[in-house]
Amino acid sequence: MFRIPFIAGNWKMFKNISEAKNFADEFKKLYHDTDVKVAICAPYLQLPHLVEAFKRTNIGVGAQNVHFEKEGAFTGEISIPMLEDIGVQYCIVGHSERRQLFNETDETVNKKIKALLETEIIPIVCVGEDLYQREHNYQNQLVSEQVKNALDSIPKEQAAKIVFAYEPIWAIGTGRTATPIQANQMCELIRETIIELYDEETADQVIIQYGGSVKPENATDIMNMEEIDGALVGGASLNPLNFIEIVNF
Ligand code: PGA
Repeated sequence: MFRIPFIAGNWKMFKNISEAKNFADEFKKLYHDTDVKVAICAPYLQLPHLVEAFKRTNIGVGAQNVHFEKEGAFTGEISIPMLEDIGVQYCIVGHSERRQLFNETDETVNKKIKALLETEIIPIVCVGEDLYQREHNYQNQLVSEQVKNALDSIPKEQAAKIVFAYEPIWAIGTGRTATPIQANQMCELIRETIIELYDEETADQVIIQYGGSVKPENATDIMNMEEIDGALVGGASLNPLNFIEIVNF
């Protein structure tokens, strides 16, 4: 089954506005339209600048989090209509750093996905086990539960639009990548879970990325795996030269 590969950068809490604009200028010089979808997920303040810098290109822009309510007394939060207003196309949901450090739960992940699916903004939903869970061989159960909870009461036409990112926590920012075989097995498990919940047709449409220490040196091996449709790239997306090499895997 052919799916268009999708490489997204996750800048986390890095780069101010002028650094973001510099990145965009450099990256646009290096980037040529390919058959690969590309996006940068940046801190909120940088988003309108990146949308502006990447207009008339095929480079997308994403947020890294969002609140599920449309508006209200939620000091410090950003809503989906606010993201729509500036033309953001993607939003990461349930990154492990948010789950571990900011009390993101499967329940809030599900609420955010549902709210995003009411709009054109595509959720990039992160799942993945920590080192303890991997060492105790608990990863399959955990990840399939995370996927099921993320998709709770979401109809299949909507589910097909979601991007999943399998990101083993032990591989994030550690330089320790899952082997392509390990990553592929987990992406396959995610697809099988979607078949179990819906059907093969739906699962065939879902883009599944791998994330965790993706670098120019390992991108080709990862992207060549059958069940891996893309990558969510942290550290290596901060440098335009590294990121373009991954995009051109
Ligand atoms: P990393 O981060 O590529 O720096 O390991 C990936 C992520 O957290 O999405």
